[in-house]
Amino acid sequence: MTREITSPDYVSTTNACKLCMPLGACLAFKGVEGAAPFLHGSQGCATYMRRYLISHFREPVDIASSSLGENQAIFGGGPNLKKGLVNVINKYGAKVVGIATTCLTETIGDDVPGLVREFLAEAKVETPDGQMPALITVPTPAYGGSHVDGFHAAVLAMVSQLAQPTPAHGGVNLLPGFVSPADLRRLATVTRAYGLRAALAPDYSRTLDAPAMATYEALPAGGVSLNQLRAMGGAKATIELGHCLPGRSAGSWLEMYLNVPLRSLGLPMGVRACDALHQALRELSGRDTPEEIELERGRLIDAMIDGHKYLSGKTAVIYGDEDMVVGVAGWLAELGVRPALCATGGKSGRFPAAIAEVTEGLVRQPARAVDGVDFQQIGEMARQIGPDILVGNSKGYRLARELGVPLVRVGFPIHDRFGGQRLLCLDYQGSQELLDRIINAILAHDQDRHHWGYGYL
Ligand code: SF4
Repeated sequence: MTREITSPDYVSTTNACKLCMPLGACLAFKGVEGAAPFLHGSQGCATYMRRYLISHFREPVDIASSSLGENQAIFGGGPNLKKGLVNVINKYGAKVVGIATTCLTETIGDDVPGLVREFLAEAKVETPDGQMPALITVPTPAYGGSHVDGFHAAVLAMVSQLAQPTPAHGGVNLLPGFVSPADLRRLATVTRAYGLRAALAPDYSRTLDAPAMATYEALPAGGVSLNQLRAMGGAKATIELGHCLPGRSAGSWLEMYLNVPLRSLGLPMGVRACDALHQALRELSGRDTPEEIELERGRLIDAMIDGHKYLSGKTAVIYGDEDMVVGVAGWLAELGVRPALCATGGKSGRFPAAIAEVTEGLVRQPARAVDGVDFQQIGEMARQIGPDILVGNSKGYRLARELGVPLVRVGFPIHDRFGGQRLLCLDYQGSQELLDRIINAILAHDQDRHHWGYGYL
């Protein structure tokens, strides 16, 4: 008897358009003051993640590990976890240890919160102040989601394990999502411009983009403080950025358990999304938009008028992390560029609807939005489209080269260019810079492929 095979018996991933879940958690923990990220798993995982983060941020990134081997895979990793915690607390003098799991420790079923409770009952610390650091645990099975899922899980863990009922203090909580250190600095600046005190969580704007120091700091300065995290319950509101967050996000937790009103907004990229952020800041502060920010908005509109002739009618393929793709798609649609394909390896379930929402009324033909795909699938779809430009992280370089179109780098990881951590994409100023980068990529590409080369434009 013969059987006709009509579909593959298995589905493989070729060049994933996402990274592993604990990597995102480690990044989020780098945004807490005095925190040491700790991976409960084998050493290779920590090495891979350190390597990845260092290549993008170009800063030393220490990630401790419980360094499991074959024996612990069979008998459990509890003793290694406890020993590793003693080492990292005594060596680093950390105020916080962010403990993320890996594929291995999730598969063998280690009860990390239970092991941490045992550790707290048994352990002795030799930190300068003799205080036990805050130990935050987050389950991050790498097969359970993307690095962005791990990031959001860690933010939820730090907020839900530390924030407490607190008297009203008039500040706001700002949960920015997975954006660049330059974007974090920008968000802090605009919030301050309205006179608002913001707890930015996480804030790795300094820890992962630090000034040169004469001596190496194991835990670089910067990050949201423990006190800020604990006081989040007294804020007048939480602003949480991102269309594709998990159903139980840190912002929704603060609203549900500590009655902090939540304002959910997309990443402020493009005029519509930036206007929404500034509207929220006006309402929360009771102040008008400062003149300098109004001027930035005006300059952005002027650049749209000047630049439309280079962009109108162009088509783009955008790929990467869900919220970054959604933000870029909305902005390109405002500029007259058709986001022909919006693709992500994430799978929040919210991506197609978010793309439809941000492009509504701006595109004649709906953008094709696909989630849970790898670069093999993105390549197949992109070849059919024949776009004018690719917008995404460094992982699309080979595809851009094959298609012979420029790649404008945004998001994470950016390994093949310098300054990925300083790429600004948010707010009016970041939107302006992204617009300039896109137009200049198109102009440079045209100059390179036409024999006349340079000309007045
Ligand atoms: S996918 Fe799993 S095994 Fe690989 S680095 Fe991530 S946690 Fe470690």
